[in-house]
Amino acid sequence: MTKRNSTKDRRECFDTNKLVSDGGAIYLLCHVCKHNIPAAKETWEADHVTPHELGGTFVLPICIPCHEAKTKKDVTAIAKAKRVHDRHFGIKRSSRPMPGGKHSRLKKKFNGQVVERDIK
Ligand SMILES: [Zn+2]
Repeated sequence: MTKRNSTKDRRECFDTNKLVSDGGAIYLLCHVCKHNIPAAKETWEADHVTPHELGGTFVLPICIPCHEAKTKKDVTAIAKAKRVHDRHFGIKRSSRPMPGGKHSRLKKKFNGQVVERDIK
């Protein structure tokens, strides 16, 4: 795994997104709240618009309070994506299998007889 918010990411983000004011000051624009961030005076971060954990590589400048709020939402989305992935590929099984389903302990035969399933 590569380091997140690395100098390389921040440099690339800065070079592609820097704006110059009429006075010649260089500033960045927070992509969430559209706040002007004077790059030399305020702290800013490079944000993966699609979370890095979900394969995102595109970064944009973001202010610290917005990044904290966005990260909280991203963590939830990443956790859900992992749960969906695990369930889709059979890594995680339901703790409450559907009664009579292929993961339940009992099965019903065509003649109506309920028998214990041979679980190996
Ligand atoms: Zn912001």
